[in-house]
Amino acid sequence: MNHPVFDHDVLVIGAGGAGLRAAIEASAHGAAVGVITKSLLGKAHTVMAEGGMAAALANVDDRDSWRVHFADTMRGGQYLNNWRMAELHAKEAPARVRELEAWGAVFDRTKDGRILQRNFGGHRYPRLAHVGDRTGLELIRTLQDHGVHRGLDVHMEHTVISLLKDGPRVVGAVAYDRERGRFKVFRAKAVVIATGGLGRAYRITSNSWEYTGDGYALAYDAGADLQDLEFIQFHPTGMIWPPSVRGLLVTEAVRGEGGVLLNKDGRRFMFDDIPDNYKSQTADNEDEGWRYTQGDKAARRPPELLTRDHVARCINREVKAGRGSPHGGVFLDIAWIRRRLPNSVEHIKRKLPSMYHQFKQLADLDITDQPMEIGPTTHYTMGGIRVDGDTQMSSLPGLFAAGEAAAGLHGANRLGGNSLSDLIVFGQRAGEHAAAFAKANGAVTIDERQVDAATARALAPFDRGPAGENPYAIQHDLQDTMQDLVGIVRQESEMRHALEQLRALGARAERAGVGGNREYNNGWHTAIDLHNLLTVSECITRAAIERKESRGAHFREDFPAKSDEYGHFNFVIRKGADGAMTLSRVPIPDLPAELKQVVEENK
Ligand SMILES: Cc1cc2nc3c(=O)[nH]c(=O)nc-3n(C[C@H](O)[C@H](O)[C@H](O)COP(=O)(O)OP(=O)(O)OC[C@H]3O[C@@H](n4cnc5c(N)ncnc54)[C@H](O)[C@@H]3O)c2cc1C
Repeated sequence: MNHPVFDHDVLVIGAGGAGLRAAIEASAHGAAVGVITKSLLGKAHTVMAEGGMAAALANVDDRDSWRVHFADTMRGGQYLNNWRMAELHAKEAPARVRELEAWGAVFDRTKDGRILQRNFGGHRYPRLAHVGDRTGLELIRTLQDHGVHRGLDVHMEHTVISLLKDGPRVVGAVAYDRERGRFKVFRAKAVVIATGGLGRAYRITSNSWEYTGDGYALAYDAGADLQDLEFIQFHPTGMIWPPSVRGLLVTEAVRGEGGVLLNKDGRRFMFDDIPDNYKSQTADNEDEGWRYTQGDKAARRPPELLTRDHVARCINREVKAGRGSPHGGVFLDIAWIRRRLPNSVEHIKRKLPSMYHQFKQLADLDITDQPMEIGPTTHYTMGGIRVDGDTQMSSLPGLFAAGEAAAGLHGANRLGGNSLSDLIVFGQRAGEHAAAFAKANGAVTIDERQVDAATARALAPFDRGPAGENPYAIQHDLQDTMQDLVGIVRQESEMRHALEQLRALGARAERAGVGGNREYNNGWHTAIDLHNLLTVSECITRAAIERKESRGAHFREDFPAKSDEYGHFNFVIRKGADGAMTLSRVPIPDLPAELKQVVEENK
């Protein structure tokens, strides 16, 4: 081994909302903190978040409280959630949002100067604190400013390729510098994974290039438990035209502000299928739905604001039945509000500035005047690294996880807005507990053989050279496999076929080769990413085959009903002693009486 070594008490992998919040907290507890990010500081995927962060501040509707937020989150997650996380999240999100405000975040305001909150799917009351439709940018800007002043040691444009262990304890990581292709070793008393999700395993996705599932694969390879990876959220509204922007997100805030979904016949098809457990909370006519979006407390929410899994499936159904739009989606119309609001053009531009520009610039369409064409897009990973609800420590000592990389809070389906609040609530907790772990557990040693093995694996594509398999072609075929065979509607025969394809793709990845040198070599980076994409794709597929029911984001055509049997455990995935993937059922502890009552009183 002949690589530079960097020492930190706490090493945070990822500089999105979760990573930065964890880093700030660990530093506030006296730890020397290093942060590694694949992109530049300020450019992590969180920057794209649009609609807002959910917290029961009750600024717009004083009936809101942590109790209602908790019950909404559990119902949305179909009760597979880690209820302790759902409880902590609902209770602590308001304080974390106010803290951001104190650190300089400039939220939109109510008339009397409080943080404004907007409606979002599955939330009973207007709950999303927001900054227009650029909330993620403000979150990152605020955390970054605050973090920089704490003296974080940031390693930008570095990719971690392996965790290092000392016995069962995680003690650091190996990374390469993306610009120069040189390896670096990070020695740390505690490590926090905050690497976000895996949308790049699918062809159509709203996710950034960073989302190759690295954190899940790093944890899995190190022996940590993963959980519930079958639950992949397909957001109902992604752009579908022109093809170059297919998958790009159209924020749920469009529907929160009164946007409606129409099929090619102009029918508001969402009124045709309202699930029983949401009937009492959903408007049964268009006028009531509109009044809800305008803040009428007596009105119930329109069916366009049902949970994402349901809306995505309804869109799928319309398209399959031949009632879709010209390019294979349906219409999302916000322009119609001109019939209700005299100043609708200015209103839409003010409330949805990014959406206005996105469609104007990318699709030459004026959303204040015409409906958008949209369809489902792979958006969010509910499953991930299994953690303790209070401390965010994984099944391995010294390894913590937070944000989209961690599992538990969202169960079978995430409510919009619950991710940004997840990042700040559990980022804070992960940082605090990682710092405490680092303090309580002393110095660590690095096993050079582990470093050498990781770097040799990473360099293998150069040994095979340009005559090897093209890594881009393998990635492309993998995305097609997952999109076509383990997508929004699933069935066993297709998923078994996907497993065979993944095996074949794995063999091709072993033969992947690249030319050129190590300086910013994107082909090489892609070849390295393949291992992560293949690992997470196999996790998703195996868990999806085993879950023989439909629940939340997981829909089985061959098992369309929800099964009580599957409502009481999580699927936990682990690397077996022989290297093979193992799947087991781990029971979910019963809800304590107090939380059971909260669920009951909010039914
Ligand atoms: C378009 C869009 C809009 C959204 N809008 C909302 C919204 O309004 N409200 C809401 O609640 N949620 C929203 N979401 C979801 C939310 O933005 C994400 O779930 C969340 O930002 C994830 O944050 P994170 O901190 O977990 O990870 P990220 O912000 O993705 O950060 C991951 C970090 O890990 C780094 N990383 C990854 N792998 C490695 C590696 N191997 N080595 C080193 N670094 C690595 C990355 O470079 C990055 O710095 C939206 C998502 C999208 C795509």
